[in-house]
Amino acid sequence: MKNKMQSYILIGSLLLLIIAIAATILIVQMNHDTKTANDEDNEIAASPDSDEKDQKKEEENQGTSEPAGDEQHKGTVEGKQQETPQPQQPKQQQNQQTNKQQAQPKQHQPAENKTVDNNGYIEGQQLPSKPTYIKGVLIANKKYPLPKDFAPGESKEARAAFEKMAQDARKHGFELVAFSTYRSYEYQQMLYNRYVQRDGKEKADRYSARPGYSEHQTGLAFDIGEKSREDLWLTEEFGESPAGKWLAANAHKYGFILRYPKGKEHITGYMYEAWHFRYLGVDLATKVKESGLTLEEYLGIV
Ligand SMILES: [Zn+2]
Repeated sequence: MKNKMQSYILIGSLLLLIIAIAATILIVQMNHDTKTANDEDNEIAASPDSDEKDQKKEEENQGTSEPAGDEQHKGTVEGKQQETPQPQQPKQQQNQQTNKQQAQPKQHQPAENKTVDNNGYIEGQQLPSKPTYIKGVLIANKKYPLPKDFAPGESKEARAAFEKMAQDARKHGFELVAFSTYRSYEYQQMLYNRYVQRDGKEKADRYSARPGYSEHQTGLAFDIGEKSREDLWLTEEFGESPAGKWLAANAHKYGFILRYPKGKEHITGYMYEAWHFRYLGVDLATKVKESGLTLEEYLGIV
């Protein structure tokens, strides 16, 4: 009787053990499948949430960095590796072209799959031998640098447009000054090196463009402020001043756009710069302004 009991218990235990082993194998197998699927998702989506968090952290850091003369507010984009950039169309075209967006030609995509550093530069990128024109528009940003020898000087057309704008601004009581326009490669190099010497490369990259990457080298970028309000030059507060507001609302009528708007740092590569305007000509500037997009988005090179 006792022996029989023991046999039952033994058989029962063995059965339980087998069930437990089978269940463990099943769970391990399921986990493996899920993990594989997640990894594939990550490759495509590149976790936008963490990017956004980094961006926020970067913005907070930005507030603590020292003023650095001409480029104190030049910001940065944290680790933006854009593996599958999707060209964007201006708003008015979006409705008609929604289905075609995925099929946009990619001939202008720079250095896909290359590593982008903490400041938005593509690691190891060499300066090109020719400047990049996209849909006829000269572009200079952290992904599309300019050749070292690209030295057009200040654009006469942009200068004339600025003078006309300044003349009209005077009627509203603002005396506008373009305090920094064309900067040569060599001049930018000198500025950048000075900042690197003072603050180190990592920090300098946060507020100063590397030589070859500044839009000022195109001769089409104008840093604008108000005469006798030098205290507001190169500050965000300029954007809140009557002159800054007038500029933001009217510059396109003269061919200029506010190049680095608020909240678009992750697209333009720069923090909000209330003073930095880019000449595009009246037609294009008006279209870009009305689209509400940045130049990168408008041209589909995000
Ligand atoms: Zn500028």
